[in-house]
Amino acid sequence: MRTAGVPDADDVAAYYDVMGPLLQLVWGDNFHFGYWDDDQDTSDLAEATDRLTRVVAERLAPRPGDRVLDLGCGVGVPALRLAALTGATVLGISYNRRQVDEASDRARAAGAQGRVRFAYADAMALPYPDASFDAVFALESFVHLDRPRALRECVRVLRPGGRIVLTDMLLRGEIAPELRSGVEHGLAVQRLAPFPTADYYRDLADEEGLVVEELTDLSDHTRLTVHRIADSVTRHRREIEERYGDQARAIAAAMRSPLQLMPEFGYQLLLARRPFATGPSAV
Ligand code: SAH
Repeated sequence: MRTAGVPDADDVAAYYDVMGPLLQLVWGDNFHFGYWDDDQDTSDLAEATDRLTRVVAERLAPRPGDRVLDLGCGVGVPALRLAALTGATVLGISYNRRQVDEASDRARAAGAQGRVRFAYADAMALPYPDASFDAVFALESFVHLDRPRALRECVRVLRPGGRIVLTDMLLRGEIAPELRSGVEHGLAVQRLAPFPTADYYRDLADEEGLVVEELTDLSDHTRLTVHRIADSVTRHRREIEERYGDQARAIAAAMRSPLQLMPEFGYQLLLARRPFATGPSAV
């Protein structure tokens, strides 16, 4: 059974068929939030999204040759970046075939196909053996997933002692009752699961037997993202109308809805470790 409000995986994949090209147009090839030093930071979206990949790579800190899983890899840019930064071997997976194809083309073009590969797989039912990765990262894929199922899969494929880093949205406060239906509509249009609160991952990590090493509210560093995206949607409005159908237009409208700017919406990063001894200890 699915957790309430979580979109169906096939529906998310179909969303990316429509939205992939549009996201690349307005957002760039990293489909994740940017990281800015502060609100005065003038970096553009491309620089700031790359900086967030570097933040994740630093936290994950794989060793050269480590096997890393990128859960929900987009068009492969973060996986290629992390491999180049750390010397790790990366397998990126997505449940969208176009993304897997484009990501594979990028790996070939970069001459990285020996160390970076991409595959079509569902994050909630990974076709990989237990303990087959040294590290796992997930840049904003949990927004679409049944989080407990996906985290359980991450823990299963992670070797004891291995680390996971994930970024996700953060619900920082109660949403005013009069705004709730608008927010729910926006989530449904963008195929997003309800946002987790500050305590959510501490509890979930605990249930899944992970040790939390860091759980940070990054909202002060990621806030500019929504403004930059809204500006970009406005800048590309004509192209969006000409090139994409009604569905994409509705999604683009949701992407620049003022609801996205609500202070209740933030961003978080989890760094956790699978302990060496799991389960009840032998007497
Ligand atoms: N991490 C990438 C993409 C983030 S967008 C980046 O930072 O650029 C969310 C990603 O999660 C997309 O690639 C989407 O296809 C993937 N995704 C969503 N549901 C999935 C599922 N059930 N299994 C695998 N990937 C999924």
